[in-house]
Amino acid sequence: MTGTLYLVPTPIGNLGDISRRCAETLAAADFIAAEDTRVSVKLLNHLELKKPLVSYHEHNKKESGPRILERLLAGESCALVTDAGCPAISDPGEDLVRLCAQAGVPVCALPGPCAAITALSVSALPTGRFTFEGFLPAQKKERRERLERLKTEERTMLFYEAPHHLRGTLGELLEAFGPDRAVSLCRELTKLHEEVLRLTLEEALRYYEANEPRGEYVLVVAGAEPRTETVSLEQALALVQRLTDSGLRTKDAVKQVAEETGVSKNALYAAAVTG
Ligand code: SAM
Repeated sequence: MTGTLYLVPTPIGNLGDISRRCAETLAAADFIAAEDTRVSVKLLNHLELKKPLVSYHEHNKKESGPRILERLLAGESCALVTDAGCPAISDPGEDLVRLCAQAGVPVCALPGPCAAITALSVSALPTGRFTFEGFLPAQKKERRERLERLKTEERTMLFYEAPHHLRGTLGELLEAFGPDRAVSLCRELTKLHEEVLRLTLEEALRYYEANEPRGEYVLVVAGAEPRTETVSLEQALALVQRLTDSGLRTKDAVKQVAEETGVSKNALYAAAVTG
């Protein structure tokens, strides 16, 4: 019988946030796959557990993933942990989950700490509909394109950011969304210096020009105001035409225009392919 891959969330700062079930799952697993074994050993020491550890991270996942899968297929159970929070959420793990799912290995996700959800709940921004953006792409061009697409996003947006990139990212967000857009800067959640600043993007940029960003951040950004003007199918088709003329595939052009105008994607696609 194959073993199970358990996705075990770990505290994002406060060790007290490890749940009893997560601790029991770590204790019961045949082995633990960890992003950084030195970090995970601290948690295991806290739980007074001694377990065999293997390393699974961004830079060895191509070799480590198949080795873990082999052991699961041979009947061992594995608990996957990362440095903090939910495995597979802006963390290594996504590929291992896919590998296991494809091979028919059961994957069991335990609920637990996640910086994005913790930040969203304390942000005081609308939580009913949100989009998790994680880290913006590292390349300038891709970042710009991503933010361009998000200009009309009406849902609350969640971004992860490291302190040394915070000022630059706030500047880019301001350029894309304007100075008055609300942002909740959630810093060092669950830790000693936990702080939530609820500002506009302009205020946030000014604040961090005067103060050094420190610690880990989730930026929760309010969505765009709902569109009031309505765009007709003909007008939307003309926009699609303009994008396909500039080299975009019809499918991508339709998706983009539908997102930007609110015109039904299916109706637009049908109209675009029938001419
Ligand atoms: N898998 C993790 C999760 O479930 O939240 C996220 C891992 S990602 C590599 C690390 C990023 O999460 C950090 O750069 C920061 O944006 C965010 N983060 C992690 N811990 C945090 C905390 N205590 N307070 C605020 N943000 C945090």
